[in-house]
Amino acid sequence: MANWNQRTVARKVTCRGVGLHSGRPASLTLAPAAPDAGVTFFRRDLGVEIPARAEHVVDTQLSTSLGLGPARVATVEHVLAALTGMGVDNCRVELDGPEIPILDGSAAPFVYLLQEAGVRTQRAGKRFLIVKRPVEAREGDKVARVEPAPELSVRFTVDFGHPLITDQTFSFVFSDRVFAREVARARTFCFLRDVERMQAAGLALGGSLDNAIVVDEFSILNPGGLRYPDEFARHKVLDAMGDLSLLGMPLIATFTARRSGHALNQALVKKLLADPTAHAVVQIGADEELEPLQIRLPALGALDAA
Ligand SMILES: [Zn+2]
Repeated sequence: MANWNQRTVARKVTCRGVGLHSGRPASLTLAPAAPDAGVTFFRRDLGVEIPARAEHVVDTQLSTSLGLGPARVATVEHVLAALTGMGVDNCRVELDGPEIPILDGSAAPFVYLLQEAGVRTQRAGKRFLIVKRPVEAREGDKVARVEPAPELSVRFTVDFGHPLITDQTFSFVFSDRVFAREVARARTFCFLRDVERMQAAGLALGGSLDNAIVVDEFSILNPGGLRYPDEFARHKVLDAMGDLSLLGMPLIATFTARRSGHALNQALVKKLLADPTAHAVVQIGADEELEPLQIRLPALGALDAA
């Protein structure tokens, strides 16, 4: 089971960019962290460390933000998706500003950073959160749901009643390779009609065609078009993986969502964590409970340091 030990980054790696909503520049460093430390966000300029856990979510309007006291870190979902997608359990994400750089609007630049850093295997078994009975969060016709399954699969349906984004579904069974190839490159998107309203509200100030897909009434405004025909649904899968990582450890379940967003994803995470009969935490090498649950551990390997 040595392969199922916790993983952190092998060395520090840094990138720099502007925040999508604040437009503020920030430098971001992925740094190694101790076993069982989980993922944390460290505001270098304030000296405050915020664990990437649901209890620290302070805002879910258009993106997910964490806070502790007066310290905030906004738009955490894409870097979190990259960390969970590449099987990294422990990492200190250091930041000298209020918002994670948006880079190209996807999780691919963070996957690239992780590949640059490499991964170090640690002397502690991985922990997983296993779903024992279905839990659902619903708001009108929006729904997010988890149910018991032997492995993680994620399925998302978007439907904006728009000619280009109607009833589009993407689903996949989790592995780091499929995540990197099929999910991580999908970019965030918005409607041209919303841009003015968002910017008047002080949001999307760093947005451009370089870091978001922009859609008008009938077409994609980005000169290069889409990276995948169903890039919208794939990006929602990416966002959901980032949001679900705020459970504090990787999930083993089937996640299904229709028209959900950060707020409903977080409502589901909180409901699941609040119900001790609906979930169990297991640790590889420490728990007898793994066998009867018959889970299939996700395939991880792309980053394994030799
Ligand atoms: Zn997103």
